Amino acid sequence: MTDTDRFDDDSTAIDREPTRERVSVPTEIELPRLLDFYELQTDNHTRIHAFYDNLREGRLTTTRCLDCEEIHFPPRIVCPECTGDDLEYVDLPHEGELYAFSAVRGGLPIGLREHDVPYVVAVVDLGPVRLSARVDGATHDDLEIGDPVTLKIVEIDGPTDEERVFYRFEPVPDGDSA
Ligand SMILES: [Zn+2]
Repeated sequence: MTDTDRFDDDSTAIDREPTRERVSVPTEIELPRLLDFYELQTDNHTRIHAFYDNLREGRLTTTRCLDCEEIHFPPRIVCPECTGDDLEYVDLPHEGELYAFSAVRGGLPIGLREHDVPYVVAVVDLGPVRLSARVDGATHDDLEIGDPVTLKIVEIDGPTDEERVFYRFEPVPDGDSA
């Protein structure tokens, strides 16, 4: 029997209702880390856990290659310059200046939209490296290129048992600039 025959043949007409089943969609997202943008920071999750350990102790650090002396950010496990893997952690300055900045006003995922937009993101020039980070304690209109900013550490209140931290910056208080 061909496909065409089947449609012409009354004996195979559908005589039975298809099975139906009701399914539901979740009313809330149950995946606990779906909106969690922070890395798991322990040695069983990341090979740059020393960076987070140092940050937890109040130090902003990164890796330097012992073969070619290149300083990287973010920290590496292999040097992108020379492919050496003999790296050490070195301290970075905690103060730098705004190299560029912008404001995030929207476009955040559901659940974060009302969190605290707008906020400022910036490229901070620390001297040895430039890195991008959020800037707290100021609006976009408060800031100018070259403004001094200082390290701020946030402790992440998130859905893991691990104590996690991350780096941000904030303006150096008036009269406190080096
Ligand atoms: Zn290197």
